[in-house]
Amino acid sequence: MRMHPARQTPFSARAGRILLLASALLLLLLLPCAALAAEESASFGQAREQMVRSQLERRGISDQTTLQAMRRVPRHNFVPESLAREAYADRPLPIGYGQTISQPYIVAYMTQVVAPGPGRRILEIGTGSGYQAAVLAATGAEVYSIEIIPELAESATERLRRLGFETVRVKAGDGYFGWAENAPFDAIVVTAAAEFIPPPLLDQLKDGGRMVIPVGTPFFVQTLMLVEKRGTEITTNSLMPVRFVPFRRAE
Ligand code: SAH
Repeated sequence: MRMHPARQTPFSARAGRILLLASALLLLLLLPCAALAAEESASFGQAREQMVRSQLERRGISDQTTLQAMRRVPRHNFVPESLAREAYADRPLPIGYGQTISQPYIVAYMTQVVAPGPGRRILEIGTGSGYQAAVLAATGAEVYSIEIIPELAESATERLRRLGFETVRVKAGDGYFGWAENAPFDAIVVTAAAEFIPPPLLDQLKDGGRMVIPVGTPFFVQTLMLVEKRGTEITTNSLMPVRFVPFRRAE
């Protein structure tokens, strides 16, 4: 029997209609998601601005370069996803492997002390999440960062690249020895508590350079120290009591 061609819907037309319907459905599903994402990033932006005002400016962080960098770096992308909503709170947060991302105020304080900016070469010991490195890089500084836990070095490298901080150079290793190939540094930021100042780091500091490092007994209150090098003279000053995770040594 012959069917009348006009009554039969050709396969391609039917498929086209299904495709159209599916895309419309997909769009309906995606639109609220996109709106939610936009709303979420706006609320993270508000939380960040609030953090800058109440935790930093009100407590005396006044260097505009530092404040701008703290405004620019999306801290919620540096903490585990389950803690994203707490990223802008006034405290450190766990980042896995028993390590922590420092409280925003401490990150800003250490940044302000070393006065980073374009053309400045900075070494960080203790990459962790990569947040402090990103803040330093957001000032225009050239940043080198060393992390002793290979998994953290790897995830921080990937995160920094994904968020557009691809100029930060990260390597896995024991930061005690610094990064001789790229020395000397205008500044060194150590984000783990050492019992003494590692001599190789002093050697790799430029004449006139500054190092900020928590010194003291692990698991107790330590002192954040400012170390300055002028010729052969080294001066140290206590800045404030802090609590950092221990500076470990490679076995
Ligand atoms: N600056 C980080 C927080 C660091 S927590 C951030 O912004 O997220 C301290 C980090 O120092 C930890 O990840 C720890 O593994 C690392 N660390 C400890 N001893 C180290 C060493 N000798 N060399 C390099 N990294 C070290």
